[in-house]
Amino acid sequence: MSLNPALLKQQVYIDGSWVDADSGQTMEVTNPATGDVIGTIPVCGREETKRAIDAAHKALPAWKALTAEARATLMHKLCDEIMAVIDDLAVLLTTEMGKPLAEAKGEIALGVKYIRFFAEEGKRVYGDTIPSPWPDRRILVTKEPVGVVGAITPWNFPNSMIARKLGAALAAGCTMVMKPAEFTPYSALIYGILAEKAGIPAGVVNIVTGDAPAIGEEMCENPLLRKITFTGSTRVGKLLAGNAGKNMKKISMELGGNAPFIVFDDADLDKAVEGAIASKFRNSGQTCVCANRIYVQTGVYDAFAAKLKDAIAVQLKPGNGLEDGSTQGPLINEAALEKVADHVADALAKGGELISGGKRSDGPGTFYEPTLIVGATADMKVANEETFGPLAALFKFETEEDAINRANDTEYGLACYFYTQDLGRTFRVMEALQYGLVGINEGVITTEVAPFGGVKDSGIGNEGSKYGLDDYLNIKYSCLGGL
Ligand code: ADP
Repeated sequence: MSLNPALLKQQVYIDGSWVDADSGQTMEVTNPATGDVIGTIPVCGREETKRAIDAAHKALPAWKALTAEARATLMHKLCDEIMAVIDDLAVLLTTEMGKPLAEAKGEIALGVKYIRFFAEEGKRVYGDTIPSPWPDRRILVTKEPVGVVGAITPWNFPNSMIARKLGAALAAGCTMVMKPAEFTPYSALIYGILAEKAGIPAGVVNIVTGDAPAIGEEMCENPLLRKITFTGSTRVGKLLAGNAGKNMKKISMELGGNAPFIVFDDADLDKAVEGAIASKFRNSGQTCVCANRIYVQTGVYDAFAAKLKDAIAVQLKPGNGLEDGSTQGPLINEAALEKVADHVADALAKGGELISGGKRSDGPGTFYEPTLIVGATADMKVANEETFGPLAALFKFETEEDAINRANDTEYGLACYFYTQDLGRTFRVMEALQYGLVGINEGVITTEVAPFGGVKDSGIGNEGSKYGLDDYLNIKYSCLGGL
């Protein structure tokens, strides 16, 4: 399993051309499993971003004038091109990001589902005729693409985070400039190669890499760009939302979370353990919907902890994602590893008990052992900050009310999970949790057909589903008078 050099593009894609940064400057991209340098990418700034926005603006009239069906045909072709090289793309994704190959392939396949879903949904951008209060006038409501979209994406799902945004934007009739995370640029640059192969016109999709703050500033301030869609930290999201707001641009923000995972006494414990493993340890804990605080009711606390410990020992195997059987890839970099180590040290200093893991794995790469700590309390860092790593911390609770209050006691509101077999409790808890996504007896719930979005500091807007397309459309009211 080696990298296909044809898919390792080390230039940026502007107006259908592959180019270097104006300064000629580059930065290195490394493999987190080995520390080896994979290649370089151009360090672009405001100028290159401006040119990319100009290109997207120039391409906009023709792209939005296509029928939804014609756009869908090109989008399906893009998906065919992706699927034709999915094995190579998975190797590339694993090499730059670290996740196990099977997960990389799953991510790319899910990305394709988003693009195909939106390609079809684009045919259903319906308007309204509204009963008029005037006898001689008619009221029409139509929807139009917002225009040029700027997308800034993170490293944890380097393919599918782009697919969600690109799919919705292209289907709505928007053109796009995207900036992937500097740690995982190659899984984004392949969209340039494959869009070109699929026959998507030059300028419709542009990709720049490099100086994130400079690129973000240009996107926020350039009047030709009308929307910013961002997935990443709440800190950067607030910065971008503030700057975009000053220039009255539409925004979609998918930000951090601090997901509670609640196990009630009446839960199916085996299912809850299965869900906890999937929700907590998928992508080595590096997803914004990963369980961060596991609340377990007193009656099943010890039994749940024992079963989770066994499941971790049997099911989780850290290792290079390219190696057969490894389920836990490395953390993305040293800083990410240090954060996990800090949360573990903090929990142990404040009275937590280490049940498994608790240290960096031996050997090269930024691997941290899957870790279980019991006796977690509200004053610990793990209770208040997103760990973004393989630390499962178990908190004990007494009553349903207690669980709800503690689950909601955070500025975040992305995903939450709970396990119960009681129908009344299911509805009470579902309605009381202040979150955008709720997994009930399920630990992994993402699908292209359902909306994905947070409340509170976790963001604004939705991705996926018909609601995800709305975020890329403006509403126009036309009044036809003099009838
Ligand atoms: P994470 O913690 O997931 O790395 P970040 O919010 O730092 O989250 O990064 C998500 C994306 O935001 C990346 O593409 C990164 O390059 C970009 N980014 C970071 N800082 C800025 C900034 N000041 N302006 C615009 N984009 C930024």
